[in-house]
Amino acid sequence: MSEAQVKKKIIIAIDGPAASGKSTTARLLAKQLGYTYINTGAMYRAVALKAITKDVVDRLQSDEQFLAEFLLNTQVRLEGEQVFLDEKDVTAEIYDNTVSNAVSQISSLKKVREKLFDSQRQMGWHKGVVMDGRDIGSVVFPEAELKIFMIADAHERAKRRYKELCEKNPDGNPGISLDMLEQEIRQRDEDDRSRSVAPLKKPLDAKELDTSHLSIEEQVERIAQMAGEVIES
Ligand code: C5P
Repeated sequence: MSEAQVKKKIIIAIDGPAASGKSTTARLLAKQLGYTYINTGAMYRAVALKAITKDVVDRLQSDEQFLAEFLLNTQVRLEGEQVFLDEKDVTAEIYDNTVSNAVSQISSLKKVREKLFDSQRQMGWHKGVVMDGRDIGSVVFPEAELKIFMIADAHERAKRRYKELCEKNPDGNPGISLDMLEQEIRQRDEDDRSRSVAPLKKPLDAKELDTSHLSIEEQVERIAQMAGEVIES
């Protein structure tokens, strides 16, 4: 690391649609730069997990008072790569497909976003962070020194997620077909793009990176290079 890199810490915001490679890239990039990786999707997933477990996904949409109380009694905390919901480690559970399919309903609620926004701002306050999500460059850290908007072909993204699910399950069975997975990913993107609060949208000053034909190493390298230029400037 050069002297400039030691001195100047920046905020790197990585936004983009589902399964575009944001998390893996952001994690490796943070490691390379000695930065903290903050996975904001995991925070929305944790809230969604609680709503599913308590069977209140629908009620949260329609009952403002209930939503306010629910959020008051919900604590989401990141500790490195681990995600704690009300002090219980839920890192593995939040990637269940039932959570992926309900999370957009939860993340579209303004009050949910306001709550998570505050802790995300706090976590990035001291800079030296790589934060990934949907609205980091547009809403959470509009002042981020480097904004990346990652995209990839939907079929390619479904293939990546499918492979991940096969690897994760001990019997190698992903539990879903590739076609269905692609449909679900497209649906989640549509829901994230069309919501009225903090929709998924490329900020004007973000650099678009199409990862359809890039390896993870290439993705990290490209962003590390851009980060290096910002840090040295
Ligand atoms: O990044 P990941 O796919 O795990 O995010 C899960 C969901 O959380 C997204 O589909 C989106 O609905 C929500 N999300 C969000 N804003 C963020 C990060 C995630 O609305 N900054």
